[in-house]
Amino acid sequence: MNDKSDTKVGDNTRLAHMGNDPRAFHGFVNPPVVHASTVLFPDAETMASRNQKYTYGTRGTPTSDALAAAMNELEGAAGTVIVPSGLAAVTVPLLAFLSAGDHALIVDSVYHPTRHFADTMLSRLGVEVSYYDPMADAGIAALMQPNTKVVLTEAPGSGTFEMQDIPAVVEAAHKAGAIVMMDNTWATPLFFRPLDHGVDISIQASTKYPGGHSDVLLGTVSASEACWERLLETHGALGVCAAPDDVYQVLRGLRTMGVRLERHQKSALSLARWLEGQEGVARVLHPGLESHPGHAIWKRDFSGASGLFSIVLDGGGQKQAHAFLNALKYFGLGYSWGGYESLAVHVQLNDRAVAQAPAEGPVMRLQIGLEDTADLQADLTRALAAASNV
Ligand SMILES: *Cc1c(COP(=O)(O)O)cnc(C)c1O
Repeated sequence: MNDKSDTKVGDNTRLAHMGNDPRAFHGFVNPPVVHASTVLFPDAETMASRNQKYTYGTRGTPTSDALAAAMNELEGAAGTVIVPSGLAAVTVPLLAFLSAGDHALIVDSVYHPTRHFADTMLSRLGVEVSYYDPMADAGIAALMQPNTKVVLTEAPGSGTFEMQDIPAVVEAAHKAGAIVMMDNTWATPLFFRPLDHGVDISIQASTKYPGGHSDVLLGTVSASEACWERLLETHGALGVCAAPDDVYQVLRGLRTMGVRLERHQKSALSLARWLEGQEGVARVLHPGLESHPGHAIWKRDFSGASGLFSIVLDGGGQKQAHAFLNALKYFGLGYSWGGYESLAVHVQLNDRAVAQAPAEGPVMRLQIGLEDTADLQADLTRALAAASNV
């Protein structure tokens, strides 16, 4: 596709040049946004054999191909399907690789809507689901059943940021004949490449850092050679293609993801370190901090940290959590993350089946945006004071 594919180039060089071929579109730097359902065939014979590159809008366009090619390069994948949301990027591969009678092992600190899908849809389809401790690591070997087909990982964990030893999980799962999927939305393939560590399916909510501006919903699923055909077949069977303008926005967002992540990482780490010393904070849950129980794994396997972490307030309950949130001026109260603006949310952990939720006080998740950290620090100072004055 482009002759600039080179595994040795730096991340930002790669982000600036991947996924497009200006010569293929009259020299324009960006690929066209192709709005399409029907694709015409030149004659009846070609139509009958479907022997041309594009056949119908749901099966891919030059726009979706550009993003898929970019993601293949970032992930080191054999193929990538693009779906309309991050949640669909989780549900489509689960539907692709699980059948009635199979068993799936899902990490207990998983993104909550993934759990909801597993407990409702998968269980209705006859798939047995169980949840495992995010720190089980090689210990998942003891949880593998003869019918275990999929082990779903997510590291760090949603809301509580437990790290998983992905290579150890992969080894145990593969030994027992299961494939491993990873929701890698937090790190993005810039800071962790799941497929390089033996994971079979890498999931990305592109809504977050790839989009980067809180204005688009999209997901990508990237597969190893062995899993690609089945993933593509399921994507086609379900008809969950994404809209061209959204696909284009994510390709556009990727161009600046490296520089944005650099800033998210730096600001989040400096605020996390500062928060560790603040009164009213019992713990900071950020794998990039030396105090984090998963720090050694993070340091060994990940090349960076994004802008999302949690703090545990020192005592209190919902009242204190609400006082904290209500005192914030620049942190918006909203779901999702990965955009340019800071966000905060009171994490609900009553869904956990095996992992222990922090007991000291409410868990507050912070997305550190691209604002000046001094302003965010002042905001957090106000919020901590408000929580302790309840
Ligand atoms: C946000 C998120 C998703 C879902 O993405 P949407 O585009 O909002 O559906 C999936 N996994 C993780 C870890 C997320 O944070």
